Amino acid sequence: MEESHEVEGDSRSYYITTAIDYPNAEPHIGHTLEKVAADAVARYRRLQGCDTYFSMGLDENSQHVAKAAETNQVELPVWIARMDEAFRLAWAKLGIQYDRWIRTTEESHFRASQEMFLRAQERGDVYKAIYSGWYCPNDNTFYRDDELVDGKCPDHPTVDLEWVEEENYFFALSHYSEQLLAYIATHPNFISPPSRLAEVMSFFHQGLRDFSISRRVNPKRPIWGVPVPGDPDQVIYVWFDALTNYLTAVGFPDNGTQFERYWPADVHVIGKDIVRFHCLYWPAMLMSADLPLPRQIAVHGFITLEGRRISKTTGNVVSPVDLVDEFGVDAVRYYVLRNLSFTSDSDFSRAGLIQRYNDELAKDLGNLLNRVVSMIQRYRQGTIPQPGADGELERALQRVADEARRGAEKALESWEIGRAIESVWSLVQRANQYLEQNKPWKLARKAEKQERLDTVLYSAAESLRLLALYLAPFIPSASKKILTQLGLPAAKHGDWRKLGTWGAARLCAVSEGEILFPRKETETHHSEEKEQCRS
Ligand SMILES: [Zn+2]
Repeated sequence: MEESHEVEGDSRSYYITTAIDYPNAEPHIGHTLEKVAADAVARYRRLQGCDTYFSMGLDENSQHVAKAAETNQVELPVWIARMDEAFRLAWAKLGIQYDRWIRTTEESHFRASQEMFLRAQERGDVYKAIYSGWYCPNDNTFYRDDELVDGKCPDHPTVDLEWVEEENYFFALSHYSEQLLAYIATHPNFISPPSRLAEVMSFFHQGLRDFSISRRVNPKRPIWGVPVPGDPDQVIYVWFDALTNYLTAVGFPDNGTQFERYWPADVHVIGKDIVRFHCLYWPAMLMSADLPLPRQIAVHGFITLEGRRISKTTGNVVSPVDLVDEFGVDAVRYYVLRNLSFTSDSDFSRAGLIQRYNDELAKDLGNLLNRVVSMIQRYRQGTIPQPGADGELERALQRVADEARRGAEKALESWEIGRAIESVWSLVQRANQYLEQNKPWKLARKAEKQERLDTVLYSAAESLRLLALYLAPFIPSASKKILTQLGLPAAKHGDWRKLGTWGAARLCAVSEGEILFPRKETETHHSEEKEQCRS
């Protein structure tokens, strides 16, 4: 099974998921990182020719969501419909192309969750016991006394914990200790980056505890959640149901054909706060249900906003929709991905965004396109010339193009997305340098240098074509605009493999277009003033 997956070819499937979000408030920039990163990788796999399936969605069955509706004095179904729209709008604005949008209130998802519960029960992994402990309503996690920080949830220091004491169903995680350890030991790529492994191992050292997989229905509240099969007094614990979304999204349990085609998932992309659920609970649930395990869990760090923790309570949030309206989809995606780290946390700052926009997108890339297209217009009436013989500078440029592509591929394999962009950017820089070295504006004035000018203009245009392709996963809309100015169609399925090398496509004529990234005013003075007003 594993081997056949490695075979290169159009039929190779690639199933990628993101975590599903609680629709308790509109999405903010903190949610954006994971979604844009997963989208970039999904786009890359499509360009590689993989049969890619990308799923995202909402985790609606949480008391957390029910509370948000109550606080906002809106009926629950109205609330989740409103949030559903807000999330889908944000992802559309960010150019995220998912294949499946899953909401855990879907009937198909209820069936999948109940099927998982029943399978665990049949396997003898479910038992009833009294649960008592602290429960954080914000992350739906149970904590022991020794896990609390100053009596509060380690992740939500301002939230009051609930003391819960009730009889409910438990899942025997302890049955799977050895199997899980063995799986992790024999699958070195299962947890990415490898630096996250230490945290997972620490759970084993503490000893795996069985976890509660249901909550008693509160008789004073409407039932919210997936009913436990055969027990109307209990609903399935929201994490048990949420994790199952990855199966529901590919047709489990009803659509066997789709399920066979995409399961097991190639990767679940998640934040560092939910490692325990994805690296322990989820694999054990799958083992219990006799289903194959996902190939990889890719864990990203968090982003802070202007150096501070993103928090609704302190008002430190930025809407991705507003950012895209102001800077454009490519600028936001570029900044998030370029600065993104899967090994540590990173910061989102407005000044940083403007700086990268001006220095890299406007100056490096935008100017390159503008110069090349206008020179081809001016010196060759818009026709991209055929090159003459390559010299040392052309061979060097071609080598850089090849290294840029390989470097990006390698970095994407290990979820180093910022590094992948950095690798592509070495070609942007080299192409600019190539123009400076050859000075086509001087060649144009000399009759005996016309063949040389052809070579230089062609090589610069070909560099741009490759750049547009290599940047398509990250800044798809800019990629399309570059290709349009080069007289070519947008990058499509399989193009990375088919057209990703020097000279692999025919260039004909350019068509002048708008400035790709008009410069933005820097805001140093302005923001200092605002800072002063606030304090
Ligand atoms: Zn919490």
